[in-house]
Amino acid sequence: MQVTRRSFLKYCAASAAVLGLSPTTLKQLEAALNSQQALTLLWLHGSGCQGDSISFLNLFADIDPVGLLTLDSVLVDQVDLAYHTVLMSAAGPTAVDLARQTRQQGGYVLVLEGGVPTAFQGNACLVWSDGRGARTYQQAIEELVHEAAVVLSVGTCACYGGIVASGPDPAEGNPTGVISATSLVQQLSPDKPVINIPGCPSHPGWIAWAIVQLILGNTPALDAHLRPVEIFGNREVDRRTRNIHRNCPRHPGNPDSPGFASRFGQDHHCLQLLGCRGPDTFADCPSRQWNNGETGPVNWCVDSNGMCFGCVEPDFPGGDFYI
Ligand code: SF4
Ligand code: SF4
Repeated sequence: MQVTRRSFLKYCAASAAVLGLSPTTLKQLEAALNSQQALTLLWLHGSGCQGDSISFLNLFADIDPVGLLTLDSVLVDQVDLAYHTVLMSAAGPTAVDLARQTRQQGGYVLVLEGGVPTAFQGNACLVWSDGRGARTYQQAIEELVHEAAVVLSVGTCACYGGIVASGPDPAEGNPTGVISATSLVQQLSPDKPVINIPGCPSHPGWIAWAIVQLILGNTPALDAHLRPVEIFGNREVDRRTRNIHRNCPRHPGNPDSPGFASRFGQDHHCLQLLGCRGPDTFADCPSRQWNNGETGPVNWCVDSNGMCFGCVEPDFPGGDFYI
């Protein structure tokens, strides 16, 4: 389906509450989109499951009133997606040339999805081959970060290391020496603006929100871990607004609470005694929710009788999930 700038704006207007966009912001967005100055994204994948791209794709699946939108069509029409391993139609040397041309032009958004293996000279994760041979994810970041205007680290692996930086066994450590993409960027270019959008996976609305801010030229307020305060709060100054536990409909202090669950599958019961990390996790999941249905998001981790695993926090996965 062909998606126009107008339809993208309609999508943003229809989803303004979910994306956290004010009427003023929508007007600014319309002006920015009409200016024809497309934002260029150069999106690399490292060590991870590519779940953030899959999650982002879901954002544009069958959303009223725009209809069936797809991630690739939106990105192609609303921003200039110069490189994305899965979504771009170019392949091989043509694709690599596009990345190289983008680098020469400069001023792009470098989107990093996945952690960076540093053991074995980085060869646990190869992104492409060029005249010099196979290039690692680490080398690609080293070559592309300096000309980028801003870095958007998407998903907890890119932001903090996440699952790919945790050992299969604590005694074995982290076999491929994965570090977060954000930490590598900070080593290479300490003054480079970086926005972390963590999550395992990251919520599609969070990624879209960040891209909209960049289209508008905004500089979002970030917390100590480079997460947008708008989405993840700032626990240093406010431990209530975005705290999962305090905003959870299963909070044991609620008048209609049936108390604590002693096993899984007990609807409406608080999951804290089974290991829920909601008390130490900050994100807008209870209000934003996940999984688009016909009328919008329909569920989230706690309401599905799972629990919050703290997937947006720097110490995720951090040991056993269940008590
Ligand atoms: S289920 Fe988790 S987030 Fe919800 S009230 Fe219980 S401990 Fe808090
Ligand atoms: S509820 Fe917790 S585990 Fe689920 S997406 Fe939000 S932060 Fe991650």
